[in-house]
Amino acid sequence: MEHPNSEIKMKQNLKYLLLLFLLCSSAIIANAQANYLKITKYKVYYGWATHYPQDWMIIRQFVNDGKSYYLLVNPQTLETKIDEPGFYKVKPMSLGEARDFFKNTPYIRAINRAEKQSAKIQDAGIEDGMPKETGISLTADLCPSHKRLDRIIFTDIFKEFQKVERPAPVALSITGVWMHQHPDDLEWLKKMQAEHEIYITWINHSYNHRVSAKLPLKENFLLEPGTDINYEVLETEKAMLKNGLLPSIFFRFPGLVSDRQLVFKITDFGLIPIGSDAWLAKGQAAQPGSIVLIHANGNEPVGVADFIKLLKSKTAAIAKKQWLLYDLRESIDEEFEKSNP
Ligand SMILES: [Zn+2]
Repeated sequence: MEHPNSEIKMKQNLKYLLLLFLLCSSAIIANAQANYLKITKYKVYYGWATHYPQDWMIIRQFVNDGKSYYLLVNPQTLETKIDEPGFYKVKPMSLGEARDFFKNTPYIRAINRAEKQSAKIQDAGIEDGMPKETGISLTADLCPSHKRLDRIIFTDIFKEFQKVERPAPVALSITGVWMHQHPDDLEWLKKMQAEHEIYITWINHSYNHRVSAKLPLKENFLLEPGTDINYEVLETEKAMLKNGLLPSIFFRFPGLVSDRQLVFKITDFGLIPIGSDAWLAKGQAAQPGSIVLIHANGNEPVGVADFIKLLKSKTAAIAKKQWLLYDLRESIDEEFEKSNP
């Protein structure tokens, strides 16, 4: 028969374990983004929200299940969050007023920089990070596709970086259609994020991502006549929120195709167009500070293979922290402007 004392001890241990479990699981829940399933009145809204000592720029307002929310940007770090208006002192502003008010912040500088590079038909916006960096920022696009997510990209990143950089930052450009097509793959990515294996910055890549095999570039993708840019931008954000993803302030043009007018339409949403200087499948090699582009939607195996090869070639450098993945939000800051006026 068991000694009564040891039984008490065991019960205490069980209690302790249960408490620990509850604490851990609530921490995970607090970290995860909520699913906003009943969004109404989703709209562009600008202003200054302050909760001492931090200032935020408001870029969207919506109602979910009768409750009001803002989508806010920290203009220093480019982090975003969803929060209730009640926590802040708020001053509504026009976009012009808000851009002027926050003009000396990395966020508004990045918007200005993207607008300066708006003339190109392909790859407008910000296309590289700080050259002093020794690693890269990875962006992987999830354009509509009937194929499954190329999961090996993410499991290999985790394998290489788990001892030196955890979670490893990646940026995924997501479309509304892909979210709709691939709920299982999306859950899998969210699980990797919840377990802190990777940190995902979600880039808006339009809802429909229309493309024509025949039309010239200047009438293709989002430049195709009849495109409803409001729908393409805002419905994608709503779909992200519905699926428990936090929208970032980045936008990637489908096909990397845009014109000057379209770039300004996107910056009018408070979004920063992100190009790429290293589309691996097109033979563009990654340089230090590159914004690398691959497709994770199963449609570009060559790019994925190139990326895995790049990753394996850097194993020794990664172990010594001499080659890292950079968070897009950090690699686009004002330091670049200082060294490249
Ligand atoms: Zn795409």
